[in-house]
Amino acid sequence: VGVFYRPLEKISAVVETYPKGIAGFRRYLALLATAPDIVDRPGAVAVPLTGEIRFEGVRFGYGDGRPVLDRVDLAVRAGETVAFVGPSGAGKTTLCSLVPRFYDVEGGRITIDGHDIRDLTLASLRGQIGIVQQDVFLFAGTIRENIAYGRLDASEAEIRQAAHRARLDTLIETLPDGLDTVVGERGVKLSGGQKQRLAIARVFLKNPPILILDEATSALDTQTEREIQQALAELTIGRTTLVIAHRLATIRHADRIAVVSNGRILEQGSHEALVAADGAYRRLHAAQAGIVAAE
Ligand code: ATP
Repeated sequence: VGVFYRPLEKISAVVETYPKGIAGFRRYLALLATAPDIVDRPGAVAVPLTGEIRFEGVRFGYGDGRPVLDRVDLAVRAGETVAFVGPSGAGKTTLCSLVPRFYDVEGGRITIDGHDIRDLTLASLRGQIGIVQQDVFLFAGTIRENIAYGRLDASEAEIRQAAHRARLDTLIETLPDGLDTVVGERGVKLSGGQKQRLAIARVFLKNPPILILDEATSALDTQTEREIQQALAELTIGRTTLVIAHRLATIRHADRIAVVSNGRILEQGSHEALVAADGAYRRLHAAQAGIVAAE
């Protein structure tokens, strides 16, 4: 099955960030790889969404005959945060990449606010989903341009507000040209944590009802980590958020945790309920206990 990579301008509405490094880059390509048949249906509509997402009997594979997701049922209320946990390769990323239709389901369906997502225009669907990935793509340009990426009509006040909510004020104050400081190879080099905050500012500015958060695997220093977690916590307020979680310690505040294993949702519930249930989550939690204790 052939895949092609959409020209950047077409996907710029949805891709906020761009991982670096080989593993990250592969993951990025996987997210961008869109089957040629993913196009607007005749009669597809643009609808403002509140973000109630339902997975109904979802089945999916990458075309090699191996099922990656099988009979996934999950209802996410508008504004709810659901964190997906589970072993590497369980299907967490795949499940989340079906929502912006980077791939289409093979069986079952995904609805948002009752609309089968295939009945929405891609521009409408993807324009209402923000994605924060592990690492961040900055293009050569100013901080202002990098924040406004995807919403070029943003006002000065909106850009400053987004930067503020992403905890970028201190950085901007200390830079020679503030928001107009050039970043990237020929400008100021930003740290990983600063880049992440810039990515968060992009999504604040875009203000989508739905957020997909691919949680960072690499730990940052404690202070930066705390600031980013606070900014992310604010970013999720009022948005339906799907978190691809890699570290259990950071997802306790999720409204619900769904344990994905072998392409199925094994169990779901609050952190407390799942620990009490003495099932897969409790075992995962115990396995990461050393890491959890250190954080
Ligand atoms: P991790 O925690 O390691 O990120 P995950 O739970 O997010 O894992 P997925 O990335 O969704 O898991 O992968 C699920 C399965 O699908 C794995 O077997 C993986 O190898 C496979 N897979 C993922 N992306 C692709 C792709 N683009 N093409 C083919 N197979 C893929």
